[in-house]
Amino acid sequence: MIMAKNVSFLDSVNRYFDAAAPHTGLDEGLLKQIKVCNGVYQIHFPVMVDGKVQVIEAYRAQHSNHRSPTKGGIRYSNHVNQDEVVALATLMSYKCAIVDVPFGGAKGGVKINPWEYSEADLEKITRRYTTELIRHKFIGPAIDVPAPDYGTGSREMAWIYDTYRAFYPDDINAAGCVTGKPVNQNGVRGRTEATGRGVFYGIREACNNKELMDKLGLEMGIEGKTMVIQGLGNVGSYTATISQDEGEVKIVGVSEVEGAIYNADGIDIHALLRHRAHHGSILSYPDARIYGKDKRRAVMEFECDILVPAALENQIDANNAANVRAKIIAEAANGPVTADGAAILAERGVVVIPDIYLNAGGVTVSYFEWLKNLSHMRFGRLEKRFDERAYRRIVDQIEATTGKVISDRDRELIVRGADEIDLVRSGLEETMITGFQQVYKMYTDNAEIKDLRTAAFALAISKISSDYIALGIWP
Ligand code: GLU
Repeated sequence: MIMAKNVSFLDSVNRYFDAAAPHTGLDEGLLKQIKVCNGVYQIHFPVMVDGKVQVIEAYRAQHSNHRSPTKGGIRYSNHVNQDEVVALATLMSYKCAIVDVPFGGAKGGVKINPWEYSEADLEKITRRYTTELIRHKFIGPAIDVPAPDYGTGSREMAWIYDTYRAFYPDDINAAGCVTGKPVNQNGVRGRTEATGRGVFYGIREACNNKELMDKLGLEMGIEGKTMVIQGLGNVGSYTATISQDEGEVKIVGVSEVEGAIYNADGIDIHALLRHRAHHGSILSYPDARIYGKDKRRAVMEFECDILVPAALENQIDANNAANVRAKIIAEAANGPVTADGAAILAERGVVVIPDIYLNAGGVTVSYFEWLKNLSHMRFGRLEKRFDERAYRRIVDQIEATTGKVISDRDRELIVRGADEIDLVRSGLEETMITGFQQVYKMYTDNAEIKDLRTAAFALAISKISSDYIALGIWP
């Protein structure tokens, strides 16, 4: 029996690394270099809020510079601290390696509760934080590229971009200094949904794996599986809607700050999101069992096939892991399961699809956005019409040789050339499928590796090590 301990997020990440490292056969010194955080920048700056000066604490950590730029979101939360930012930056390095996104890992954090500030104050804080990053060379399209994370979104990214551009008016690539920007501000279509869509593709891949499903006693395929979602933020809401719409998943439980609800017959996620937008709470949603604010952690123990923690770290630990009833835990959030919690889940045969693979869709589409910014052109602009003309000729030829007429609807479907959103989704799908296959291969090729997380860490460590070796940094 593993006793409950209050271990930090960073301790958990380091324990996951230590569990995987021996399977890579790498030199101890190289492993240490891959494990440590290369640099953390801590800042305090004053901001005038409601006529009073507040001193704001903020960070940017760059975990690994084996590739440039470094990449990772900026979090606005009261819980931000150095260990958390370092842990999140560390996960970014491994995440990028697993899905072959050519960046090092980074993360930023501003220790504020963003919901307590006006929009004007948030703009002031964001612009001031960006200025500090610029002053210390912790931002730039070739240096370090932030993105949204918990408590931030496209609005904050637009402020960051605008501040950077004001400092570097002659930088032709300035738009690549940050990703997750609004589409009309040099963003890319499909970035907002990307993490949730990637989570869906990842779960679908796992459910299409016969060996895994047999082990769990589940039918193959995502269709008809029951799912519980913790957190209806950007990641949770897109995971839920796409899983329901494209995967025919049945959402049976949901939690948010105000509490949790459960209905074994299914909850229509679109209706629930509309309900919350209108009434400000999920708790008044009809026909569901209700758990109030102080009981909302019960969501982790709801009966379902797939539990999706999509909020913050350390949600499943030694205290509640034994009560989890899901067969699959899909880590949409970063670090939702502690190392102690993971040990208990492993003993019980629960499959955890790890964060460093599963939520990599966000940074993958950020990579596409950065490429779009450096190329100064929308994806699909060159080839769309050319492809359409070629497809039309093929359809005409088929009609001419078979003597059959293809219906207008079918013709339209066949001849359509790809738009930016089609290409982004296709690139994301390809990335998530290939990533799963690589992690799974590492898992099955090494008899001593007992879970997907250890396999994912071992894969990431191996890929980063080959960069160090290729770069001649390591003999
Ligand atoms: N904050 C997201 C993450 O944790 C996205 C990072 C990015 O797009 O750079 O993966």
